Amino acid sequence: MQGQMMDYQLTLTPLLDRARRLFPKKEIVTKAGPTLERYTYAEMIERVGRLANALEKLGIKRGDRVATFAWNNARHLEIYFAVPCMGAVLHPINLRLPGDQIAYIVNHADDQVLFVDPTLLPAVEKLAPHLKGVKHFVVMGDKVPEGTTLTPVHAYEDLIKEASPDYPWPHLNENDAAAMCYTSGTTGNPKGVVYSHRAIYLHSIGLSMADSFGLSERDTFMPVVPMFHVLAWGTPFATVMLGVKLVFPGPHLQPRDLAELIQAEKVTLTAGVPTLWMGILHLLENERYDLSSLRGMIVGGAAAPQSMIEAYEKKHNLNVIHAWGMTEMSPLGTVSRLKSYQLNLSEAERFAIRAKQGTSVPGVEIRAIDESGKEIAWDGKAFGELQVRGPWIIKSYYNYDRSADSFQDGWFRTGDVVSIDPEGFVQIVDRTKDLVKSGGEWISSQDLENAIMSHPKVLEAAVIAVPHPKWQERPLACVVPKPDFKDKITKAEILEHLASRFSKMYLPDDVVFIEAVPKTSVGKFDKKVLRVQFKDHKLPE
Ligand code: AMP
Repeated sequence: MQGQMMDYQLTLTPLLDRARRLFPKKEIVTKAGPTLERYTYAEMIERVGRLANALEKLGIKRGDRVATFAWNNARHLEIYFAVPCMGAVLHPINLRLPGDQIAYIVNHADDQVLFVDPTLLPAVEKLAPHLKGVKHFVVMGDKVPEGTTLTPVHAYEDLIKEASPDYPWPHLNENDAAAMCYTSGTTGNPKGVVYSHRAIYLHSIGLSMADSFGLSERDTFMPVVPMFHVLAWGTPFATVMLGVKLVFPGPHLQPRDLAELIQAEKVTLTAGVPTLWMGILHLLENERYDLSSLRGMIVGGAAAPQSMIEAYEKKHNLNVIHAWGMTEMSPLGTVSRLKSYQLNLSEAERFAIRAKQGTSVPGVEIRAIDESGKEIAWDGKAFGELQVRGPWIIKSYYNYDRSADSFQDGWFRTGDVVSIDPEGFVQIVDRTKDLVKSGGEWISSQDLENAIMSHPKVLEAAVIAVPHPKWQERPLACVVPKPDFKDKITKAEILEHLASRFSKMYLPDDVVFIEAVPKTSVGKFDKKVLRVQFKDHKLPE
């Protein structure tokens, strides 16, 4: 017997229509230099219709890829809806990638139209001769700056002005492509991930569940995570679905800009990578802001150190929500939220749980496989590679002949090494390639980093493996002191701080003090740069 439900396609178009009917008065705010630009959902949605007509006039058809090279702002949001709802494919480009990789992904995706923020024009001008398939450039502003070498080039506002707001949105299939992003891959060329309408629809509901982030109409949401990093973690779609007031920081991503914006617009929920929150935490040590509107700061993309979660809560009464995900997973995977009966645990136990990556949300199944190919026990001790499956997880990369290597029996292999405790909380031990292999034992660089970053004089720390004649590899700690403690912190202090928490075998063989931990294009620690820098580092005997 079959279920007898409507064959209802899960596409983004009805979500946009819902927002049009229910939330015309809700606001969207963008920081543009010293001013805050604001308009309503009603205006945004009217412009989405105009933009779809304009794109059609530029020759965009169903399935065509439309790229963006832009910060988080309201025009970017308009493109986020116009493109998928007309049946084309949105492709936000990571503007921090090196030029050759950007050219590679624009050509690989075969982008037809490229939208670019005026401030980013010089970078695109330089790349333009290598962008083979791009037929039109659109500058996201009132006019095309004089002297640009881009051609043919249009001003966003001219296109919108001339177009009708009524667009006959087509009936789409839920499995049609809506958007694509490339991984910020650390080796080789970035790999393409193509999201379907269905995946984004279900993922939006995933973000709204009370036990994930409980995103709701009453929130004011500020996405700090770039719209090119896994579609700002899928949040633009969920927020418009729910009619959430949106606050975009534009290119203004310094801790002070963000704190001012949270305070001024009374942001309730925001999201970004840990380095960002470390910066804001440091700012709050010296300057005062009223951030009491915040009910949660979603931290993901890299491990949130326990010391950071504790400092926010104890010193500033601010709630960090630790979550884990991947580009290949739209990205929502796990959220660290205490279960009802864990609320009664001691403070130390509660923080230790919240620093884990969390339990899988409904919709995401997990398992971890050890080196012998067996599924590990959920005992919090054994570890293995995390594998996942679910409706918003990829089944292959886009046009990539080695896709199959990333899957095992229908499960996606994340490349993250984890333990899972009896309550189902996943703890990322490391990326496979970041583990330190010392004499047959595995040392988690992340555990050491988190412990070092809990030292009051430390701003950031990254631990890497360096070759060792006897043990194969040993850990080296690269530590950035807080500005006030430059030259006032010693190797002995760091090792002493670690000695009570780790066995001797775990302790770094050496500590070096550095100016800053190099960051990847999405703001995570870039350990491969450190590995190259310290490949000949001589460890003390
Ligand atoms: P990306 O697709 O660029 O967002 O990278 C995904 C990878 O980031 C994951 O496979 C993890 O290695 C890492 N990651 C994401 N969230 C976390 C987290 N909360 N803790 C530790 N690592 C994380």
